[in-house]
Amino acid sequence: MTADDELMALDRAHLWRPYTSSDDHERRSLFVVDRAEGPWLISSDGRRVLDASGSWWCNNLGHGHPRLREAIARQSERMMHCTLAAVTHEPAALLAAELSAIAPRGLDRVFYSDNGSTAVEVALKMAFQYWQQNGRPARTRFLGLPGGYHGDTLGAMSAGAVDEFSAVFRPILFDVERPADAVDQHWEPVFDQLFELLRRDSDRIAAVIVEPLVQGAAGMRMYPAELLAALRKETERADTFLIADEVFTGFGRTGPMWACDQAGITPDLLCTAKGLSGGVLPFAATLATHRIYDGFRGDKSRALMHGHTFCGNPLGAAVAREVLAIYRDEQILEAAKAKAARLAARILEMNEVAGVSSPRALGMCAAFDVGARGYMGTVGWEISEAALELGAHLRPLGNTVYLVPPLNIEDADLERLLGIVRESTERVLRSAR
Ligand SMILES: *Cc1c(COP(=O)(O)O)cnc(C)c1O
Repeated sequence: MTADDELMALDRAHLWRPYTSSDDHERRSLFVVDRAEGPWLISSDGRRVLDASGSWWCNNLGHGHPRLREAIARQSERMMHCTLAAVTHEPAALLAAELSAIAPRGLDRVFYSDNGSTAVEVALKMAFQYWQQNGRPARTRFLGLPGGYHGDTLGAMSAGAVDEFSAVFRPILFDVERPADAVDQHWEPVFDQLFELLRRDSDRIAAVIVEPLVQGAAGMRMYPAELLAALRKETERADTFLIADEVFTGFGRTGPMWACDQAGITPDLLCTAKGLSGGVLPFAATLATHRIYDGFRGDKSRALMHGHTFCGNPLGAAVAREVLAIYRDEQILEAAKAKAARLAARILEMNEVAGVSSPRALGMCAAFDVGARGYMGTVGWEISEAALELGAHLRPLGNTVYLVPPLNIEDADLERLLGIVRESTERVLRSAR
C-alpha cells in the first residue's frame, strides 16, 4: 500500500465526512492533498488540481500566502492563545479597530467567535436580547428569505431555509417566517412579500436576516442590490434590525469589500468569517452598531450572554490583520475587477452548451445549472468527476456548478480553470443526451 492508500483506508475507517452519507463516504474515492499553493491542491506524487471552490468559499488569497505564513509564525512565537476575559491583546484590539474602519459606516463594535455559524448565532442573540431588555420584549421573531443559508448550528439552521440541510431538524428549530420562493429568479415579488410580513408584524420582529446579494448554499442565487437597499429602508421604517450575513459575500467576493457596499447600506449587524482569516484559520466576527452595543449597558444581568473559549484567538486575529494588510498592499479588490470581468464573460458563454442554464456571475463568484433537481441532482457531481481528471477540484451544489476561486488567481490559472469547466461540462452533457 502506498502512503496515500493507507491514508484513504484510515479515512474510510474512522473519519465522518460533512454532508456525506456513510455509504457514500466509504465508496467515493478521494483526492489526497499533500500540500497547497496558490489556487492549487497538490498530491504527494505531485499531481496538481485547481481548487475551484476556494476550499469551501474561504480561500480568497490562495493557499500558502507567504505573508499569512509569516504572520502565523510571528504570532505563534509571542502567544498562540489566551482568554479574552478581563484580558486584551494587540491582535484582538487592533483588529477590532481595523475592522470597524473598513466596515460599512457605523458598525464599530466587534464581537469575536470561531466560524460563520457562530457569527450568525451571536447576531441572532444580540438582536433578540436587545429587544428583551430595551422595552420591546414582544420582538421575539425573525424574518428571512427563501433559500437563505446561515450555517449548521440550530439557531443558524432555524434562520436558514435550505430544506435539504435542515428539514430533518425542523421539530427542534424555531420558526422563521419567510416569503414564498422566487419563480424564475424574479425577486421583486419575494421582497414585496417580505416587506408585507415586516409591516404586518413589525411589533414582533427582532430582525430580518439575509445573505446580501448572493445566496450561496441555495445554489449561488443572486438578487439585485436595489432590493437589498429597499429592505434596509423597510427595516428602518419598522425600526427593527437588519442582519447581513456576509460570511461568504464579505472580503470582496462580490466585488467591493462587502456586498452591502453595493447597495450603499449599513446593516445593524454584520456577520463575517470565511475570508476574514484568508480562509486559513477558524475565525469569525459579528459587527454591531453602537445603538445595539448601548442596549447592553447596565449591570451584569444586561450583558450579552454569549462567549466562546477561542474568541479573539490571537493567531486568528493576527492572520485577519495580515489579510487586511494584504488587501491594502496588493490592491486585491482593484486587481480582481478585471479577473471578475473575465470570469463573468466566460461563464455567460456557457449558455452555448446545450443543457446549461442560468449562467450568472457577481465579482469572483460564478455559477450555472445543469438540470432541475437542485441540490439533490447528480449531473453536477458527474461534471465534478470529469473536472478532477482534467485538473480541477469542483464541489458542486448538486446540479449547480460554481466557481469561487481566490480573488488573486493568476489570469492563466483562471483561464485554465474555465477551460476545464467548459470541457468537463460539455463532456458530461453530451454523453447524457
Ligand atoms: C458558510 C456560511 C455560513 C457558516 O459558516 P461556517 O464557518 O461553515 O459555520 C454562514 N453563512 C453563510 C452565508 C455561509 O456561506
